[in-house]
Amino acid sequence: MADFDYDLFTIGAGSGGVRASRLASLSGAKTAVAEEYRPGGTCVIRGCVPKKFMVYASSFAKTFRQAQGYGWSLGEAQFDWPAFRDAMLGEVDRLSGIYAKNLANAGVELIEDRAELAGPHEIRLVKSGRTVTARNILIATGGVPNRPEGLAGAEHAITSNELFHLDTLPEHLVIAGGGYIACEFAQVFAGLGVKTCLIYRGDTVLRGFDDDVRAFVHEQLKESGVRVITHAVFTSIEPSAREGFYTVRLDTGDVLESDAVVLATGRDPYTAGLGLEAAGVEVLESGAIKVDAYSRTSVDHIYAVGDVTNRVNLTPVAIREAMAFVETVFRGRPTAYDHGDIASAVFTQPPVGSVGLSEADARRQHGKIDIYKSKFRPMKGMLTAKPDWMLMKLVVRAEDQVVVGVHIVGDDAPEIIQAVGIAVKAKLTKAQFDAACAVHPTVAEELVTMREKWVDPTLSAAE
Ligand code: NDP
Repeated sequence: MADFDYDLFTIGAGSGGVRASRLASLSGAKTAVAEEYRPGGTCVIRGCVPKKFMVYASSFAKTFRQAQGYGWSLGEAQFDWPAFRDAMLGEVDRLSGIYAKNLANAGVELIEDRAELAGPHEIRLVKSGRTVTARNILIATGGVPNRPEGLAGAEHAITSNELFHLDTLPEHLVIAGGGYIACEFAQVFAGLGVKTCLIYRGDTVLRGFDDDVRAFVHEQLKESGVRVITHAVFTSIEPSAREGFYTVRLDTGDVLESDAVVLATGRDPYTAGLGLEAAGVEVLESGAIKVDAYSRTSVDHIYAVGDVTNRVNLTPVAIREAMAFVETVFRGRPTAYDHGDIASAVFTQPPVGSVGLSEADARRQHGKIDIYKSKFRPMKGMLTAKPDWMLMKLVVRAEDQVVVGVHIVGDDAPEIIQAVGIAVKAKLTKAQFDAACAVHPTVAEELVTMREKWVDPTLSAAE
């Protein structure tokens, strides 16, 4: 039998790669993981973690306003971007260090180098020039921001990668896209006092989410001071006469001037130069690595997890896929991760928490469904000049009354959806929701107190 340098070689030390490498090593496999940048991956270094710090930073603006309704008087609030940015990046450094330490503690060799496939079992380390061999290979290289093809002057735009490192807070920010990143950052920067404009090619942001959620978030974006231009795309970006500013032209004829232009138009699987052809690994038309339910690629001993496979591009999903991979390959228990009913959050302000099917998808999949929804003003805002609204919605399959979707927009929605996601994953019925006693006074009690089915006023009685 051939001898290999490693039982497992992982390419990419992000959430999926680190979890798989640690668990494989703890299962007795000789394991190495290569990382070309810093351990932690997108989530820790340039994604979820610093993004959430930015959401916290931005949300103080509203807290200060609300405080006045509760009798507080405050001086003029000032925001110091460099101080905040450095504190945030310091925490990112600390977490990246913890990832490296956890790998070492689990006995994984961390190779700080770019790794590329040189053959079915061979991996070339670019900086050192070494080639190593592995019995099994895991590709966990994640994704990279895409740049719309043919956009003139795209090089003048930045992406979410660079937003965390800005030298100064811009005066203006123009952001392209209407997905997670565009919506989250538009409100972050608007909250920090930046004049922000979001350009979306569709009519309502957050395509793929429940339509009520989309409409609610779209309105809230505008409420929070973001200028939203729909049915529009960038046609060019060029330096403007004003030092440090750019002129952004849209296909609608609109012309904008801004000192920060951001592309948040999706992310692509990161496979460039990875040597997939050399190893015989197939990719899909989308550029994602083709895998089966066990995360196995077209080559028997090469696996891939996380965003590079473009299944459900979320950190906890990459981690679950990694855990299933280790069960399958190193613990003799073939395990396919079940991608159903994954709860997720969008950290807009207020945030979204969502699990299961949207109303439209539920109708498509199940035919007759019952909807329960409530739009109300949470208690916290009632003493303030501008009370917030909150949306809660249950999507129930009529046939057996199983709750197949829950959608929430409002403060604490991500925290609430984590708990209610258990109930949806467990396929509980509306009656079982109702059997749970309310916790009072909370916003979440609405989930167990909605009794009246919502009747769509646009449908006739006969329908
Ligand atoms: P999304 O896929 O969420 O959104 C991309 C947006 O860009 C969509 O509105 C899309 O429009 C638009 N778009 C795509 N191509 C073009 C183009 N050529 N010109 C103009 N607009 C375009 O991607 P994001 O970049 O926002 O986020 C990437 C991924 O990162 C997400 O899918 C998510 O999985 C993950 N993420 C998760 C977060 C969380 O869990 N809270 C936070 C941030 C990111 P259209 O709707 O018409 O397709």
